[in-house]
Amino acid sequence: MTSALSNQDSSQRTSPARHSTQSLDVDGERLWQTLMELAEIGGTPRGGCNRQALTELDRQGRELLIRWCEAEGLEVRFDAIGNIFARRAGREDSADPIVIGSHIDTQPTGGKYDGCFGVLAALEVIRTLNAGGIETERPIELVSWTNEEGCRFAPCMMGSGVFAGQVALEDALSRTDADGVTAGEALKAIGYVGDNTACPTRFAGYLEAHIEQGPILEDTGDTIGVVTGALGLKWFDVTITGMAAHSGSTPMHLRQDALLGATRIVEAVNRIAQSHQPDGRGTVGAFQLLPNSRNVIPGQVILSVDFRHSESEVLETMVAEFRRALDEIVGDSALGIDVTPTADYPPQHFHPECIAAVRQGALAGGYAHRDIVSGAGHDAVFIGDIAPAAMIFIPCEKGISHNEAEYATPEDITAGANVLLHATLSLAGVGE
Ligand SMILES: [Zn+2]
Repeated sequence: MTSALSNQDSSQRTSPARHSTQSLDVDGERLWQTLMELAEIGGTPRGGCNRQALTELDRQGRELLIRWCEAEGLEVRFDAIGNIFARRAGREDSADPIVIGSHIDTQPTGGKYDGCFGVLAALEVIRTLNAGGIETERPIELVSWTNEEGCRFAPCMMGSGVFAGQVALEDALSRTDADGVTAGEALKAIGYVGDNTACPTRFAGYLEAHIEQGPILEDTGDTIGVVTGALGLKWFDVTITGMAAHSGSTPMHLRQDALLGATRIVEAVNRIAQSHQPDGRGTVGAFQLLPNSRNVIPGQVILSVDFRHSESEVLETMVAEFRRALDEIVGDSALGIDVTPTADYPPQHFHPECIAAVRQGALAGGYAHRDIVSGAGHDAVFIGDIAPAAMIFIPCEKGISHNEAEYATPEDITAGANVLLHATLSLAGVGE
């Protein structure tokens, strides 16, 4: 699959058609209006959006998106997990497509931009090409992945996970929501059980524009994040066992205080992540204390540990340091420590040529940009395993997302869509 792009470096070309697209810009106002119109479906009083996957509101959002796609002459299909593909023909129409998009489902108290920006920026790219009468060599497919958020039905990134073979279709369809409805039933109820054979199976490239969902671009003052990959993660559940005993009658030297050991673990997780900057992350996010009583020495603590890094070897080193820290605690206390791995995803390294196309798009637009590694999961992380992929980040205010207060400026939205436009043109190739 990686060879699909090897002879397609269109930045080397000097055809007149290529020059005519260099000054091409998206219509930022049209894109903004489109984003605001989609956000009305499931819009919340606080200016956010509640359009969870496979609900009636998701159906309405899908219908609107499809109406927009069909107005541009795109051929719309959906697959067995309800991923929507909308195709714009290429001059070499049998060639593998360049695929651009993201997701339109939201969190219950979500914003207007997470996911929707990527899908509607893809639509804006196609509208711009249509308005300019510009043909590409490869076909372009807009994609809207099913259930990226994973809030009504776990896991998150369900549609792209099924597409990439990371999640079995039957497993995904059998997942239930809080009312016991399966994802399969919900998908059928909104009328989006499609046919895989009508959809693309191979991508020549995949590009996803997204809000950063973090504070880095705002902090550095850059408009565009050229996303080179995503952090890998390793999660653990840790149980520290001591002895619950009376806090008055048990002398200090005869205690087995599980909380004392747990606090050393919290401190070690932080220290290990701090020593592997800038990409190291270490978090104890869940913490349960037993029996949690004022006059009882804690007998047991159960906590979660989340380590992340952009490089596999460093992630392994962090875990080895973590295990050494645990051995040390066990060695100089009377505590027992039990560790269970609960998740393990390797770092994603995006495709050099897709990354270069994004960087070139940022340079062409004159946008301040920097390389960045995604700390969050995205559909592109799964798709990057089966096709050349990269992402484009734009800043979001204070790094806030999964929140009704989520905000990105019209200027940054326009900039991100322009970078998507030029990166897509460079990968898809401009026709003669
Ligand atoms: Zn998203």
